[in-house]
Amino acid sequence: MLAVPTPERISTSSSVRADTRCLVKATEPTRIAIVGLGKIAHDQHIPAIGRHPGFSLSAIVTRGAGLPGFDHFTQLDAMLAARPDVTAVALCVPPQVRFGMAWAALSAGRDVLLEKPPGATVAEVHALTDLARANGRTLFATWHSRFAPAVAPAKAWLGDRTVTRADIVWREDVRKWHPGQAWIWQAGGMGVFDPGINALSIVTEIMPRPLHITSAELEFPENRDTPIAARLAFADTTSAPVTADFDWRQTGPQTWDIRVETTEGALTLSAGGAKLEIDGRTVDQPAEAEYDGIYARFAELLATGMSDVDASPLVHVADAFMLGRRIVTDPFHD
Ligand code: NAP
Repeated sequence: MLAVPTPERISTSSSVRADTRCLVKATEPTRIAIVGLGKIAHDQHIPAIGRHPGFSLSAIVTRGAGLPGFDHFTQLDAMLAARPDVTAVALCVPPQVRFGMAWAALSAGRDVLLEKPPGATVAEVHALTDLARANGRTLFATWHSRFAPAVAPAKAWLGDRTVTRADIVWREDVRKWHPGQAWIWQAGGMGVFDPGINALSIVTEIMPRPLHITSAELEFPENRDTPIAARLAFADTTSAPVTADFDWRQTGPQTWDIRVETTEGALTLSAGGAKLEIDGRTVDQPAEAEYDGIYARFAELLATGMSDVDASPLVHVADAFMLGRRIVTDPFHD
């Protein structure tokens, strides 16, 4: 049997927490800062924090102008020094700059929420996990797609069923979803794996057994550092075939589907985990509320002094880059 990566869920003891927490009364919401005021901060984090009674958005760290009504810093270090009452930070910056910020925040005794992917490398995530444990802080490596409404029901249905094959199709229009995001095309930005890792976060959550990549083809535009398309083949520990087709060149209808066949029926998760069909019948789901789920989980982790760090989706991306055959394709221009 091949060695396969094991998802890592770690916990830290609340009894070894550092001192900043005692500056805030237990009944008060956690004062949190957002770092990086880009698309996901505006679209999801600010509204979700606003809806959660356990959090109070108390500072914004942005190189830009800030937001009216919120304490504004252009550097994280300045915020950490000036606002000891801000005990948590949500890092909404690109992966290439996230490690240094997470390290600084954990070192300063803050709890840290990481947007996905949790790092630009796997080793970064291990280092942060160790630091959080050593400092008695909470580290939450979020995977927002795992909070899509149909993911938990899909996982429950799959249970210990025997998977015979699975196919992931994640095809979207990069010009629509990532206009002008230079970092995503630079080394460490992951290219098409930026959305593709969302599919991998679902698959690693719902599949009854771990997967490992057996082959990969990555298409790189000749003028970019990161791939625009990737085709992956995996096996699970019983050698059931699993394929993934990630492509950023799809115009028209967008596809974020995962189909899993088992010896006792098949399921299809579509719309990025929002919709579920089992044996062709729709299973109704509640409305999408991924980031409400993320902040509910973060509140739970803070209350219990736990961390939640699962690097397995990132491990598959790293393996795809290690094992993948490189194909050079047409240049990409925004
Ligand atoms: P974005 O719109 O480009 O925003 C990222 C922000 O990070 C920038 O606005 C900037 O904020 C800050 N930043 C700091 N250093 C930077 C640097 N060297 N280069 C560029 N920006 C820098 O990106 P995003 O879509 O919000 O994505 C951020 C993270 O969230 C990514 O890891 C992404 O995978 C994840 N995510 C995105 C989405 C989505 O739908 N867009 C969904 C889920 C997760 P300041 O100018 O304020 O400093």
